[in-house]
Amino acid sequence: MRRFRFLRNPLATEIGNSVEAFLRYLGGPTSIFLEGADGSRTRAFVTLLHGNEPSGAMALFRWLKSARQPAVNTVCIIASVEAALASPLFSHRMLPGHRDLNRCFRPPFDDDQGLLAEEILEILRLHAPEAVVDMHNTSGSGPAFGVCTHMDRQHDALVSLFTGRMIVTRLNLGALMEISEHRYPTVTVEVGGRLDDCAHELAWSGLCEYLERPQVLAGDVVDWGLELLRNPIRLELNPGVELAYAEQPDPGVPVTLRPDIEQLNFGVVQADVPLGWVRDDLRSLFWAQDVSGRCAVARLLRVEEGRLFPAAPLKLFMITTNAAIARSDCLFYAIEQGGAEDSVPA
Ligand SMILES: [Zn+2]
Repeated sequence: MRRFRFLRNPLATEIGNSVEAFLRYLGGPTSIFLEGADGSRTRAFVTLLHGNEPSGAMALFRWLKSARQPAVNTVCIIASVEAALASPLFSHRMLPGHRDLNRCFRPPFDDDQGLLAEEILEILRLHAPEAVVDMHNTSGSGPAFGVCTHMDRQHDALVSLFTGRMIVTRLNLGALMEISEHRYPTVTVEVGGRLDDCAHELAWSGLCEYLERPQVLAGDVVDWGLELLRNPIRLELNPGVELAYAEQPDPGVPVTLRPDIEQLNFGVVQADVPLGWVRDDLRSLFWAQDVSGRCAVARLLRVEEGRLFPAAPLKLFMITTNAAIARSDCLFYAIEQGGAEDSVPA
């Protein structure tokens, strides 16, 4: 397997003239150390855990081309370079037959992706950063948001460099932030859709803030005015259940979702808004578990004459219209509006 390559202060002239050339120059997973004006502290920037999420790599390339010096030492981890380079560029979340790298940050570290995840944790441990930002894109279009597993003003401060919306979740998926969080304030930033120019711009402006500010943690500021969304529930398909996205129910699959469903990202979706069609009992098709481990399918969804609706007003986000991602990861995240989940402390 490919192990990490280590670079230090690469020159703008040696990293290529496009993001693709930059990734070919890296060749595989790479840790780039940038010496800061203040060499006594280090921050970490992680990106490309998912090879089809280009905004972070594009922003880092732009930063390196600008030949600026960060305020403090910065270690940049660019992980799934080979998956990103697999043709066509930036289309593979991971290489075929590999696990999702951002589900591998917990033992056992016994396959290629697990060893890569373990190496990322080791690089972070060696640098002991004051903060970690892990930059992603959503697969569908939608606004930016931050995610953290633990809420305090340090996390608020980090997320506010990028966006005014933060999701607080105790999901236990094996994601980097769940592990890294125990040692350093860590946030995941979803800068928006993987194909959206505004996501690439936000990645760039946010990265500049993160790298150039002498202080990125809270200091004396108490309230960052973020919109907080707590304890989202993942709606997943049961194993083997197929789905399609279409204007009409697809007779070949038990679940059809409307093709424009990602328009519902972050709005409150009322219980009379159609989501699609189903041809079976909800619990045989879907799986959803709330923070206390209870099945939440009936609280999220209802069926009326074969048409699928929310069971109650829901805020939905990370809605995908990519059937492969919907099957292997989830259809969307949902937050019940005014329900019991809102009162659970983070
Ligand atoms: Zn991602």
